[in-house]
Amino acid sequence: MRIFDPHVHMSSRTTDDYEAMYAAGVRALVEPAFWLGQPRTSPASFLDYFDALLGWEPYRAAQYGIAHHCALALNPKEANDPRCLPVLDVLPRYLAKDSVVAVGEIGYDSMTPAEDTAFAAQLQMAADHGLPALVHTPHRDKLAGLRRTIDVVRESALAPDRVLLDHLNETTVGEAKESGCWLGFSVYPDTKMDEDRMVAVLRAHGPEKVLVNSAADWGRSDPLKTRRVADAMLASGFGEDDVDLVLWRNPVAFYGAGGRLALDAPPAHGTHEGNSVLRGGE
Ligand SMILES: [Zn+2]
Repeated sequence: MRIFDPHVHMSSRTTDDYEAMYAAGVRALVEPAFWLGQPRTSPASFLDYFDALLGWEPYRAAQYGIAHHCALALNPKEANDPRCLPVLDVLPRYLAKDSVVAVGEIGYDSMTPAEDTAFAAQLQMAADHGLPALVHTPHRDKLAGLRRTIDVVRESALAPDRVLLDHLNETTVGEAKESGCWLGFSVYPDTKMDEDRMVAVLRAHGPEKVLVNSAADWGRSDPLKTRRVADAMLASGFGEDDVDLVLWRNPVAFYGAGGRLALDAPPAHGTHEGNSVLRGGE
């Protein structure tokens, strides 16, 4: 089984997780830029983080046979902090880099005017760079948040089939599907979507344009949720081809749209700017 996790925050995870993900079948992933928990106080803090997603993290993933790509953006939550906004001026330079396969995660957190502005500006940047966009839909007021999200996408220069609407659930999947966007589901240990509900959604709405991710980060989450969904699909009667569509071909098609996806992990030797994942050298 081959698995592509289209949304996982590996910077928050240990190398044990990379090892377990590889053993479970994960061969490629996308790490979107997000909120670190601790608020950032300047654009420079974003740039060091972006550089880590472009350098250190792909290096770390390669030690475990996993191809790492990233999506870069100003996240919805920090779009509300005026100290962070100048990162939007530097972002286009970063979006030109090879292993950036999308703009993300963007979208709404609390649906403020500041979030409106940053969301629309970054959809335009995605269109300008020929990249797809990973769009976070709000965890509260889900249906209202989804409708407003779809409105902003429709008003943008980016085609719906270049947009992945993430964190969907049973209440939002129907309208999300009608929008023509790709459909993302984050599967969590004990809240929101779980693997059995995911299988029921796939039964009701089909596997076309559906992507499943672990969205694992520094909170309660499980980077093996992609594999658990695959196993639950097989146990409930889905065939291996459907599993491969949802867990591999759909994310490859979505993120491949920008022409930058490289699915083979780079060679796992050497160091990154003099550092390895070992302490005290090799
Ligand atoms: Zn995320």
